Amino acid sequence: MDESSQAADYDILIVGGGINGCGIARDAAGRGFSVYLCEMNDLASGTSCAATKLIHGGLRYLEHYEFRLVRESLLERETLWRSAPHIIWPLRFVLPHHAGLRPAWFLRLGLFVYDHLGGRKLLPATRTLDLRTDPAGEPLKGEFHKAFEYSDCWVDDSRLVVLNARDAAKKGAHIETRMRCVAARREAGIWRVTLRDETTTRIQDVTARLLINAAGPWVSHVLSQAIGQNETAAVRLVKGSHVVMPRLYDHDRCYIFQNADGRIIFAIPYERDFTLIGTTDIDYEGDPGEVTASDTEIDYLCAAASEYFKKPITRNQMVWSYAGVRPLYDDGAGSAQEATRDYVLRLQNGEGEPPLVNIFGGKITTFRRLSESVMKMVEKTLGKRGPHWTASAKLPGGDFPVMGFKTLCGELGKSFPFLAQDHIFRLARAYGTETRTILTGIENASGLGRHFGGTLYEAEVRYLMENEWARTAEDVLWRRSKLGLRVTQDQTTALNLWMTQAADAPALKAAQS
Ligand code: FAD
Repeated sequence: MDESSQAADYDILIVGGGINGCGIARDAAGRGFSVYLCEMNDLASGTSCAATKLIHGGLRYLEHYEFRLVRESLLERETLWRSAPHIIWPLRFVLPHHAGLRPAWFLRLGLFVYDHLGGRKLLPATRTLDLRTDPAGEPLKGEFHKAFEYSDCWVDDSRLVVLNARDAAKKGAHIETRMRCVAARREAGIWRVTLRDETTTRIQDVTARLLINAAGPWVSHVLSQAIGQNETAAVRLVKGSHVVMPRLYDHDRCYIFQNADGRIIFAIPYERDFTLIGTTDIDYEGDPGEVTASDTEIDYLCAAASEYFKKPITRNQMVWSYAGVRPLYDDGAGSAQEATRDYVLRLQNGEGEPPLVNIFGGKITTFRRLSESVMKMVEKTLGKRGPHWTASAKLPGGDFPVMGFKTLCGELGKSFPFLAQDHIFRLARAYGTETRTILTGIENASGLGRHFGGTLYEAEVRYLMENEWARTAEDVLWRRSKLGLRVTQDQTTALNLWMTQAADAPALKAAQS
């Protein structure tokens, strides 16, 4: 290593504050590397807030022989559940047998492989259901008699991102939101990265020994526009949409429905009062930041669910829809749904040049393993620092037993008797043991401060602004929480105004710095 490369501001600069960028920042900072992460918008404002939110092996990927990916993902389920049992929890999936589609023996075989491929210790095994007697059959059409029930996990995707960022920051990483990487050039053995503050338009340069391009659907854009290299063929953008309906059934299991076109969709209990239905798979060519669910996709999802539910699902029931773009590695597959969901890492490390790692593809489920693989590349070029450590570590607020969520809610209820049960439940789900930090010193309901709608009060908003990089009402209502489903437009406007004023207050500025 020459002297100039030691003079860089940071060891590693990461472009992109989605799950992959934040996961890598956390792992690297925990090993002792100095890390700077820039995110051009809010954390998790790209694909990482638009997932189906499953920590899953991907039963469907077995049909495409993606055994490596399925095994790694299955192994991750319990590891991630243990690390953050407030935002990750087990779900049972009901897969009805459809007489005209995949035969029952084929489904059973796939689930046998699924059960045995990846280190299941706590999650229950597959069982067969008689839908004529099991409550899971109640909301379905009478023609569905038989189903299989198996395990996967649920995750609050955007909170997983912010908890990784928080842990990274606790370990010394510098996380900067609303900061766009506009250029990156190699200069005297290090990277000189030009950043634009999206709020003030101020330009600044930061130097680093290694650059990681974790820009998700923008990975090729960063390569071509900021770094000046063309590798557009490596990424395939595949859009997926979801619709949210008022709760469609009473139990807490999910459905996985097969469609006649060979695809599958999920119907999942969502935010207590809703059902989430998704997703679609459509090749996409526009700006990933502008993606929305189209009428055709909404109709497709309603029709696919109506094939199974007794009561038809219609678009006029819909309370919300969202869409995201999968940044898949382009393996030349025919249809969008066949394109690999596995990740591919590309290290550019020419003689005397500072290294660049580009990330293509990846799932929420595999972010921790992806981060470990990236760290191997980092260590190969920058040298080894600390050991790998994330497999047994807790994320902020997750330091309670995997089966201990009810106990946590009970204890919080005793400590803060002035809070309604649904309020405690929501806070415990979002913040786990850190709920106490938000409520420290508050002794009655008026101590929560101004009410913004739903169960949102000033104390929580201040916490989000001081500790979780929240700047706008959208950050709070749609990414740090899903309270957007429960507040009015007027309440959103009032929250925005309050946050703008609070951000200028000296006390908040001091807390943030
Ligand atoms: P992103 O989350 O998009 O992050 C990239 C970030 O880079 C963005 O926030 C962007 O603003 C930022 N950025 C871009 N350019 C710049 C720049 N120049 N400067 C600074 N910042 C920049 N996975 C699962 O495991 N389970 C699921 O159930 C699941 N369901 C899915 C359903 C759908 C419909 C979709 C679309 C994906 C799903 N996934 C699922 C996949 C998963 O969501 C993605 O693989 C993952 O979120 C990608 O994360 P990322 O960090 O690579 O990208």
